[in-house]
Amino acid sequence: MYWGKLSTETVKEKVFDALNKNLNYATEPILGLPGTYLDREQFYDSPFLKEAAYLSVLMNNPNHIGCHTYNQGEKYFLGTQQLELDLLRICAEEIFGAPKLQYDGYVAPGGTEANIQAQWMYRNYFVQKNNAKFSEIGVVFSEDAHYSVYKGANLLGIRPIAVKVNHDDRQILLDDLHTQLKIAHDDGIKYLVVHLSMGTTIFGSVDEPNSFLEVAKQYFKEYFVHVDAAFGGFIYPFSSSNKDLTFQNPEISSITIDGHKMLQSPYGTGIFLCRKGLIENVQTPEAAYVYGSDFTLCGSRSGANAISIWMILMTHGSVGWTESIHDLVERTNYISNALDIMEVKYYRNPYMNIIAIDANEVSEELAKRYFLVADNYNNPQWWKIVVMVHVKQETLDEFLEDLKKERKESGLLAKKH
Ligand SMILES: *Cc1c(COP(=O)(O)O)cnc(C)c1O
Repeated sequence: MYWGKLSTETVKEKVFDALNKNLNYATEPILGLPGTYLDREQFYDSPFLKEAAYLSVLMNNPNHIGCHTYNQGEKYFLGTQQLELDLLRICAEEIFGAPKLQYDGYVAPGGTEANIQAQWMYRNYFVQKNNAKFSEIGVVFSEDAHYSVYKGANLLGIRPIAVKVNHDDRQILLDDLHTQLKIAHDDGIKYLVVHLSMGTTIFGSVDEPNSFLEVAKQYFKEYFVHVDAAFGGFIYPFSSSNKDLTFQNPEISSITIDGHKMLQSPYGTGIFLCRKGLIENVQTPEAAYVYGSDFTLCGSRSGANAISIWMILMTHGSVGWTESIHDLVERTNYISNALDIMEVKYYRNPYMNIIAIDANEVSEELAKRYFLVADNYNNPQWWKIVVMVHVKQETLDEFLEDLKKERKESGLLAKKH
C-alpha cells in the first residue's frame, strides 16, 4: 500500500484545478440544470474562500450523481469527479487490494447506505439470475453487526439471520451458525448474503471469514460476501497484515467504509465498493435524464464530500496515516495494560482502538461521567471506550485513577487478592 503525501499548498491547488474543470454556474450559459451554487445571501463570496479549497467546492455545489467508475456520468462536474475516482482507487486498490480498475463504487451518504446498497445489489442478482423470490433470500451476520443490516433486510424484504457470539471473545459461535442456517434452509431460504464486520461498532471485533464460509457452504451454493468496514476500514488495514476481509480474498465481493468515523471527514462520507460485474444489478434505467444513468441508492450527492476524504488522505499519505493509527493503537494498549494490572475484565481486538469494559467492573456513574457508551442502554453488559484523536492521555489517566479509587472503595480489588 502506498500513496504519497502532498503539501497543503499542492492539495489546495489540485482541488481548485478540479473545480475549474467543472461547469461554473456563475459564468456559463446554463439554462437547463436543476442545480446551482449555494444560496448567495447566506453563503456569500468572501476573500478567504480563495484559500479555502473545500469550502469553495461546497459553495460551488457540484453534484456527483451516478457511479463514475462504471461510466463517465454527468459531464458537468468532471474535474471533481476525477478526484472522487482517485479516492476510490486508493480505497479499492491500495487499502483493500482490488486488482487495477476491477471495481465499482461511489461516495455514499454513510455506512448505512453502503450496507443497504450491497444487500440491494445481491438481492437483485438472485432475482435476475436465479429467478429468486425475495422470501428465498437471507442475510446472515453476527449479533454484534451494525443495526443497518436489519434496516436493509426490512426495506428489501429479505430475511435477517442473526448468529450468537461467544460472550468473551465476540467470535461467531459456529454451532449457532449451523443451527440458524439449517433453520433458514429448511424454511425455504435458498440464497444467502454473508455480512461480515471489520470492526464492530461496540467491540471493534473482526469476523473470521474462513470458518464462517466453510459452514455457510454446507447449506448454500449461492452466496455473496459483503464486508462492513464502516468503522474499521481506515484502521485495521493499517494496523494488521491480515488480508482475509479485503479484495485479496476472492470470496469478498463488496466493502463498506466510512470516512466520517475514523478519518475525521464531515458526515456524508461513506464509501461503497464492489467487484466489477455486480453494480449492473442496481442500475435504474428509468433514470433517463441522468447522463450515464444511476446505480446508487441516494441519487444526488455532494461532490464536496468526496473531495473532503481525498484531501485528508493526501494530507497524510499512506505512511503518515499508518503512523497515526499506530499511535492510537498504542494509546489503546496503554489502557488495556492498566486494566490488566487492575484485573479488570474487558474485550479488545489488539489491532483496534476500542475497549469494551465488562459492566460488572465499573459503576454506571463512572461510565457516564466519562461518556462511555453502553452496548445496550436497557441492560448494559459492556461500556466502551473509543480512543479517537480527541482522547487525551490526561483524560485516560484521570479515568483510570477514578476507576482504581472506585474499585478500592468497593473492595473489588481486595476481593481478588
Ligand atoms: C457507523 C457504522 C455503520 C453505519 O454507518 P453510518 O455512517 O452511521 O450510516 C455501519 N456499520 C458499522 C460497523 C458502523 O460502525
